[in-house]
Amino acid sequence: MSATPSCPLCTRNPLVEIWSDDQLRVTDAQDPDFPGFTRVVWHAHVSEMTDLTHAEREHLMSVVWVVESVLRNELSPVKVNVAQLGNQVPHIHWHVIPRWRLDSRFPDAVWAPARERTPEQNLAWEVFQEQQLNLMADYHHALRNALEQLPGYRAAT
Ligand SMILES: [Zn+2]
Repeated sequence: MSATPSCPLCTRNPLVEIWSDDQLRVTDAQDPDFPGFTRVVWHAHVSEMTDLTHAEREHLMSVVWVVESVLRNELSPVKVNVAQLGNQVPHIHWHVIPRWRLDSRFPDAVWAPARERTPEQNLAWEVFQEQQLNLMADYHHALRNALEQLPGYRAAT
């Protein structure tokens, strides 16, 4: 269960990490189609939620719900999509994805092909995307603050 060099999720990228503790990390997916798309990644190789202990599951999901809550407060999406697939890497990771009527997939799943958009819709999206990107620093700051309020919080060592 130790770090595997060939595994893309064993390699941590400090540039995208918003917060971490000794069990998991919260990262910015940096997806321009979904500004604010956030992931919660379990550090160790664990494939299924039921491979975690009850306490580990509780901790992981409490972080996911903090992410959803802060994301809603800071970015005001019309919907939040929460997904756990992990078919390609043996790391439990949850995707927390803000959705807007203007986004290129709405109302389909984020993994669906992009919909045809008019030039007006594309322009509206570009303006909106810029506004959202300007909120990222505040979103990340609020997220760190909220995560440090979790019961039993212990900073990564
Ligand atoms: Zn790995």
